Amino acid sequence: MSSAHHPRFRAFTPRDLDGLLRRVPLTDDQRLALRAVSSVLPFRTNAYVVDELIDWSAVPEDPVFRLTFPQAGMLPPPDVRRMADLLAGDAPRAEIQRAAHEIRMRLNPHPSGQLDANVPVHEGQRLTGLQHKYPETVLVFPRQGQTCHAYCTYCFRWPQFVGEADLRIATDDIAATGSYLRAHPEVASILVTGGDPLVMSTEVLRRYVEPLLRIDTVRSIRIGTKSLAFWPYRFTTDRDADDLLRLFEEVVASGRHLALMAHFTHPQELRPPVVREAMRRVRDSGAVIRCQGPLVAGINDSADAWAELWEETTTLGAVPYYQFVERDTGPQGYFGVPLARGHAIFRDAYARVSGLARTVRGPVMSAMPGKVCVDGVAEVAGEKVFALHLIQARDPDLVGRPFFAAYDEGATWFTDLKPAFGASRFLPGLEAG
Ligand SMILES: *Cc1c(COP(=O)(O)O)cnc(C)c1O
Ligand code: SF4
Repeated sequence: MSSAHHPRFRAFTPRDLDGLLRRVPLTDDQRLALRAVSSVLPFRTNAYVVDELIDWSAVPEDPVFRLTFPQAGMLPPPDVRRMADLLAGDAPRAEIQRAAHEIRMRLNPHPSGQLDANVPVHEGQRLTGLQHKYPETVLVFPRQGQTCHAYCTYCFRWPQFVGEADLRIATDDIAATGSYLRAHPEVASILVTGGDPLVMSTEVLRRYVEPLLRIDTVRSIRIGTKSLAFWPYRFTTDRDADDLLRLFEEVVASGRHLALMAHFTHPQELRPPVVREAMRRVRDSGAVIRCQGPLVAGINDSADAWAELWEETTTLGAVPYYQFVERDTGPQGYFGVPLARGHAIFRDAYARVSGLARTVRGPVMSAMPGKVCVDGVAEVAGEKVFALHLIQARDPDLVGRPFFAAYDEGATWFTDLKPAFGASRFLPGLEAG
């Protein structure tokens, strides 16, 4: 990790969980339950998150605490009990691992066919560290970037972090990536993602980014990151922070659009002065910061939180991009917000912010056919319906065409929706999930 030498750097792993939780008034059983959850789902945080972002006087309700610390409700009670019994009984490591693996396999680790559906094949070889779902954009998962400065409890990429080799997506075959992109001139945008690619040193990141600058058809490069929220020193006082900004400048000087796709969850993440300094430095490099994040129960499921997040990021010169719906994987049952309520929160927040912040789209589901946006609830021909459209689709012909689903107050994902008006499909070419 590029930040490991930083004087403020200290990573906390499941081994440290018990000690950290002693700051909170919890019973032994409650602490054991949280350790049980962290033996199945990833846990990692750091001194910056613990000391600067979490308001310990507000724990356990504090949103950033809930963003990074396990909660008992994240797994079904029988699974928590089973893992707690194993931990309390000092069961052998192998037995704990086996039980954890079994539970993970029941949590839909790769929703929407993540592992297979979007992997491109080039010259007879599957490029397992790439995803190519929409014609104009390719996702690159650098091998060294498949971890994060801290882990979000609601993360949909959680299988990347639990040491289950078969569940991982990653590449270090930079030559094959270049060769694929040369054979696919329709790809104009590259999204380098993870994990968080900015856990990599600038030197390693450069190995992935610089070759892209020699491919004329690549017009924009995005870097998906939560480092502004979880480790803003990456852009200020990390040893290679200046070098990172120089790399950004090189991309911009090549005539390309460089977007830092910054994951923010709650306005509390914007409070420390170092975040603002980091955002100023990124903008000075010529990169654009675009903000996105999911709507999650118990953390940011209020219009106040979103209105403040969008207004504040806009004030800091960033551009609100997507508000996501929590995916149907891992602890979705705990963090998911029904689409109807999610849209009400989105609309309420959207109505309060200036037009400059209304660049945001949402709530958006990254589902099998594409990015489905919930536009609202309406009554059409006497039937209560959801109005939706695809912002992105495997089949570009489906983009931007309104369609309707029967209203369902409890629906949390695309696959819960049925076409309205008794129709057999949403659109020609778009079936119910
Ligand atoms: C969201 C996403 C993209 C990028 O879509 P944009 O609308 O261009 O932001 C590309 N590929 C996949 C798989 C995605 O989920
Ligand atoms: S930063 Fe992104 S990839 Fe990393 S844990 Fe959070 S949601 Fe997952």
